[in-house]
Amino acid sequence: MRIKRFLILYLIFAMLFVSACAPKLPEVSSGDGMDSDINSLVESSELSVEGSSISDERLDDISNDLISDTDSTEESVDVPTANEMRVHVIDVWQGDSIFIELPNGKCMLIDAAERDYSGRVISLIDCLGYKKIDYLVATHPHSDHIGGMQRVVQSFKIGKVYMPKVTTDTASFINFLDALDKQGVSVTVAKAGVKFDIGDFLSAEFVAPVTIVDDLNNCSAVLKLKYDEKVFLFTGDAEIIEEETITANIDCDVLKVGHHGSYTSSGNTFLKKCTPDIAIISCGKGNDYGHPHDAALNRLDKAGVDKIYRTDVSGTVTVSTDGKNIEVSEGLVPTGYNWVLNLSGMKIHTTDCKSAVDMKEENRAYSIRTLRELQKMGYVLCGTCKPKE
Ligand SMILES: [Zn+2]
Ligand SMILES: [Zn+2]
Repeated sequence: MRIKRFLILYLIFAMLFVSACAPKLPEVSSGDGMDSDINSLVESSELSVEGSSISDERLDDISNDLISDTDSTEESVDVPTANEMRVHVIDVWQGDSIFIELPNGKCMLIDAAERDYSGRVISLIDCLGYKKIDYLVATHPHSDHIGGMQRVVQSFKIGKVYMPKVTTDTASFINFLDALDKQGVSVTVAKAGVKFDIGDFLSAEFVAPVTIVDDLNNCSAVLKLKYDEKVFLFTGDAEIIEEETITANIDCDVLKVGHHGSYTSSGNTFLKKCTPDIAIISCGKGNDYGHPHDAALNRLDKAGVDKIYRTDVSGTVTVSTDGKNIEVSEGLVPTGYNWVLNLSGMKIHTTDCKSAVDMKEENRAYSIRTLRELQKMGYVLCGTCKPKE
């Protein structure tokens, strides 16, 4: 419990890092003086601390104060074209990661898969030409959703970060917070009613969690994203218990099905409110849980869903919309890259380098960036293939 208490404080402190003007985050250790050190740091900022957590309103205020939109034109990209929004439910085996190209050139990432599949996430975003993730949402701190976050944060500039007010003591979670802290990025609490303005004809609003419970799945941040006439609902691993707490209007066109198509999600009452035309399930072929479960598939079917897509069958599923019409394509893979990166060894290889060919998938990513950009991120050139522009 001592560790848990420390982690809660650590999270709070990470959120407050900039505003409190603290010189340095305390190192993570189990020294005896830790609790009093952190308490004094927290007390020294003007926070109302209730038990071991800070009030949501204050946290939101602080986050809003801290996070400023520092978009620079040098990072603007020329995709997507013709004011399209594109939602890529990335094939990350058993986990979730959804990359959204907004029609105004900005982008959003919801979850980042297991660490071993983070290369797929990084490669796709990189090869689409993005260097900054404007909005990063961590639905809940399970490793199949946030395991890849550390590497993602290390690979892109990060704008705003949203996550529910829950903590865990896993390495994935701590490494994620550490990476955010190194970039000086703070976190806004994701909970029902939190909206963010993201551009003309666009709106994004969390419709859950309404309440925080012990089970992390049922604290999932559920996001409703609307572009003109089309509504998408992203549910993380919310199960029926959480679905039934949602009071907002969740009528949607496209549903990212909760919890990888588990029978514990996608209840009839919820589906009646959603009435999606398209449902997308993110799950891995041959996964240990048997996802997606027939019970969930049958309920989706009965609810009148026109088409169910599955990443284990289709690979990455891409939904494109101009706000009026929707098109779906399957199997997008990164293209146009010059370099193969070793995310673990931080090496840059040419595509035909033997080390690149033999590299384990868990360390592999593809990049269209310049060598200089990659070197600035800490990558070094392979001595064997000697990459040259
Ligand atoms: Zn999950
Ligand atoms: Zn989960």
